[in-house]
Amino acid sequence: MTTVRPYHSRKPTDPDVYHWHSDCPAGAQIPGRNKVSGAGTGNRPCRLCEGMD
Ligand SMILES: [Zn+2]
Repeated sequence: MTTVRPYHSRKPTDPDVYHWHSDCPAGAQIPGRNKVSGAGTGNRPCRLCEGMD
């Protein structure tokens, strides 16, 4: 599994979480145009990414 720089979705209806695994199934559903690098403001760590640590 691959750890990457944190990223999150800028789509308002998406969960307020950030990801740091490139193969996270939830992170993989974020289209490239909505993907923003960084943890974002007030976002929680993704549970699935935590599980892969
Ligand atoms: Zn994740």
